[in-house]
Amino acid sequence: STLQVAKAKPDPIFALAARYQADPHPKKTDLGIGAYRSNEGKPWVLPVVHEVEKLMANDPTLTHEYSPLAGNKDFYEAGARLIFGNDIDVKKVGSIQTLSGTGANHMGALLLRHYTPFGKGAKTIWVPTPTWGNHYQIFQTVGFEVKAYPYWDGENKKLDFEGLLDTLKNKTADGDTIVLHACAHNPTGMDPTKEQWEQIAEVFKQKELFAFFDSAYQGFASGDVDRDAWAVRYFVEKGIDLLVCQSFSKNMGLYGERCGALHVLLHDSTPEVAENITSQLAYQTRGEVSTTPAFGSRIAQKILTTPELYKQWDSEIKLMSSRIIEMRKALRGKLEELKTPGTWNHITEQIGMFSFIGLPEASCKRLTDEFHIYLLPNSRISVAGLNTSNVEYVAECIHKVVTE
Ligand code: PMP
Repeated sequence: STLQVAKAKPDPIFALAARYQADPHPKKTDLGIGAYRSNEGKPWVLPVVHEVEKLMANDPTLTHEYSPLAGNKDFYEAGARLIFGNDIDVKKVGSIQTLSGTGANHMGALLLRHYTPFGKGAKTIWVPTPTWGNHYQIFQTVGFEVKAYPYWDGENKKLDFEGLLDTLKNKTADGDTIVLHACAHNPTGMDPTKEQWEQIAEVFKQKELFAFFDSAYQGFASGDVDRDAWAVRYFVEKGIDLLVCQSFSKNMGLYGERCGALHVLLHDSTPEVAENITSQLAYQTRGEVSTTPAFGSRIAQKILTTPELYKQWDSEIKLMSSRIIEMRKALRGKLEELKTPGTWNHITEQIGMFSFIGLPEASCKRLTDEFHIYLLPNSRISVAGLNTSNVEYVAECIHKVVTE
């Protein structure tokens, strides 16, 4: 027939989740997908989100009409204030509501492919090694050539800052687009220090590089949404052209509602420039999905713009991030107690949802196949999958695969 379709290769993270689901073993442990779990190992609806859902159910003015093409304006303006700070003039930001962080990555890439001032549109985008696996597919889909810059030094379990800086300085072309994880780098959990960000920003200035910030974990890294936005705000202060892909999947637990925004901020932006950007993004959105989902954006908008709800949200983020930090300490502590060969300090030095524990692929495979612990083959674990009932078991199994 005219259509011949071979089976697609499975997505590694979703395939792992399916294996976990099908595993009947009582000690099975899910350290795969990046979704917060309570200490009981259950998905957690933030109480503040539940609160807003109840308010919405009783609000007679809410309908199921379409959103405008650019999405829920009150939502994305509040989102811009969250990432850039309250002082930002939102009229100078070209924003649009997106299908969560993934959609923001897609729309941001599409915009750069078509509208950069370097002639025909940007062709090359640089991502860290390693990066969120989906970056490659998203950027290649819109025709980018994806190149990698050094990020993780596996041998010393730290940031390869020299390699990173050298590549940005000497291997990129002026005007290239560089993807930066705004905080809580996925998958390594290792971010540059403030001093290192300052040096990175300096190169962006010199070479007029475009900063493509992916912000999927604001609040998750430190428990403080302002602290986690530091790098983005520093780049803005330095007058570097940038965009931010903003996701509310993790920090509001709205994963499946697909709630996010794209914010483009140029150093010489005016309200007219911002409006033009939003209009092009809206035009593109129309041809792809018409309009984005209303529900999650209404929840996020309500939380971000109501002081008491915002305060409650802030305390719930702190609760999630502090549980994760506790689990990092517990895992490191147990491994050190067992005297598992190797160093484990990186587990508590890394931040955010993930830890790159630094085991070879064969050991990760053994953890999954023999011990029913589901983690990525590159040894990324979702720390949120650890809890007081399973952390000891996980440490003991890591000890076994390292020593036996
Ligand atoms: N970027 C990064 C770095 C991520 O880790 C994720 C979530 N895994 C996303 C973007 C997008 O997630 P979502 O589309 O659910 O917002």
